[in-house]
Amino acid sequence: MKREGSVRRSRYEEDRKRRRIVKIPVKHESDPVNNLPENLEKARDLLREALGSEWVSDDPAITCGYARDQSFTPAIYPHIVALPASTEEVAEIFRIANRCKVDVMPYGTGVSTVGATIPLYGGIICDLRRMDQILEIDGRRMQARIQPGVTYVMLQAEAQRRDLRLTNPSTSATAGVISNHTMCNINTMSCKYGFGMDNILEFVMVLPTGEILEAGPRACGMQAAHVPGPGPDLSSYFRYSMGTMGIVTEMTVRLYPEPRFLHQLYPAYDEDHLDDIIEALYRIARDNMALELAHLQNTFYGIFIGDDNKETERLVKAMPRNNIMAFFGGSTKEEAVLKAELSRRVVAEVSPKFDFIDAEIMYDLAGNKVKLDRWTKYFRETVRVQRVRGSFYIGALIDRLDNFLGTEQAMRVITTDQVGTNDEVLRPDDASAYFQPYHMGRMAYLEFDLYSNQADKDDLLRVLFGYLRASFGGMGRGALFAAGAACMIMGMPMLDMALPMMMPTFMPYLDTVIALKKETDPNNICNRRWDYESGEMKKLALF
Ligand SMILES: Cc1cc2nc3c(=O)[nH]c(=O)nc-3n(C[C@H](O)[C@H](O)[C@H](O)COP(=O)(O)OP(=O)(O)OC[C@H]3O[C@@H](n4cnc5c(N)ncnc54)[C@H](O)[C@@H]3O)c2cc1C
Repeated sequence: MKREGSVRRSRYEEDRKRRRIVKIPVKHESDPVNNLPENLEKARDLLREALGSEWVSDDPAITCGYARDQSFTPAIYPHIVALPASTEEVAEIFRIANRCKVDVMPYGTGVSTVGATIPLYGGIICDLRRMDQILEIDGRRMQARIQPGVTYVMLQAEAQRRDLRLTNPSTSATAGVISNHTMCNINTMSCKYGFGMDNILEFVMVLPTGEILEAGPRACGMQAAHVPGPGPDLSSYFRYSMGTMGIVTEMTVRLYPEPRFLHQLYPAYDEDHLDDIIEALYRIARDNMALELAHLQNTFYGIFIGDDNKETERLVKAMPRNNIMAFFGGSTKEEAVLKAELSRRVVAEVSPKFDFIDAEIMYDLAGNKVKLDRWTKYFRETVRVQRVRGSFYIGALIDRLDNFLGTEQAMRVITTDQVGTNDEVLRPDDASAYFQPYHMGRMAYLEFDLYSNQADKDDLLRVLFGYLRASFGGMGRGALFAAGAACMIMGMPMLDMALPMMMPTFMPYLDTVIALKKETDPNNICNRRWDYESGEMKKLALF
């Protein structure tokens, strides 16, 4: 007769096999310098004294919630979670962390797709959600001063009450505005208003030493909307630093008028030659009438709107292969329609192969189940990603629009060759891609998203290597990665050798980043990624 315990165990094993769990989450590995057990206990007690014991926890039931994000990075638990309520408390966390030599990981809402908030060596997660005040909205100057716990949905709702809006990315409505603006904030209005990082007016930041840095016009006694100065201008200091240089506790960002009327134009192009699409995007962007502008492939519609793989397949087949998504705003309906009509003529001049699809027909193509108007509203207003729930690799590059023609083709070949086929996941040519012009078409953004079957290690590896080859291939053609790559890839094995060859101009820049980091974070506690002595990354957690 089998004992009950062994039955339970074998069920567990079976379940494990069935779900193909490849690795059971490890808490963390021991570290020779930082995060020593005796120091962690001391830090926890000091933090409890400083913040109040209810805001500091080392209970695994709490810490496990911070061990993963939306990336494929295996779970790593922090030792302690601390929730400060003010800039001064954040500074106190850093002071304690320095005294005890414990790492600190700034944490917004943790929806990063690259393991950005995974505490590689454990330590303290500094969760900023309690600091969730919109401190001021100045409707006349169209700007908002906020704390890091303010999410897109919170600020957008407040802004819309005043007929304003902010530059929303198509991420979750619950993502943090400050964390996303510092990372870049790729949004579909970037043709007109730039990325979020271009819309940061000023900030308050706690450096890893516990010192407080204020930058931007107000720090010099002027108004936030004033030009930066008198100089040197530090207001871009932390952009792209991904929490490695300190914690931003306050930021003023620009808002924009919300037009009363919107009109959408749907130019479609059924072939896969993107030169016409690129030229059309460039011309619309340069005219600067479109409020939002992007190129979306049928695969992107499928992945974003379809509720399951079947629905995605249907949408991919139903939608035109290449689409331009262009929204025009106006204070009257006529104004919005007129702008769209002028842009329609511009696109028609580029090539007679463009079809202009009526909104009703687009809604029909999407089918009854999918409310396309609701989806585009989500996309542009309420920042709510619908289906994109699993983990995926985001390839994100910045370059000239015309350069992207070759880059996109090369990427598609690379990802298709590398990814191979697998019936479980979307077909390799469904590695969805989209472009969008940036700054009136002076530059552009190219994203290609690769989805993988998370339970299939081979598939994961295929996708990862396809992603890396495609990204580095693009960078080799002159594109720049569109996020805080430098601070994340420092010391990464192999890249040390590859980068100087691929991008020689990158190395002096990296040296400056290293010098700044060492100066402002002498104990290497703030989002520690690489070792000061060896210059090497001991643990890899970026993808
Ligand atoms: C489905 C999906 C779609 C997405 N689409 C887009 C998109 O269209 N555009 C886009 O821009 N992004 C997109 N993203 C990426 C995601 O939105 C960003 O990673 C977002 O900024 C995460 O916000 P967060 O508050 O969760 O930041 P977190 O993940 O918590 O933090 C991100 C990084 O910032 C650091 N950090 C957090 N708060 C602070 C602070 N106050 N001071 C200093 N450093 C800090 C963290 O240490 C970490 O390195 C998408 C993500 C998903 C899952």
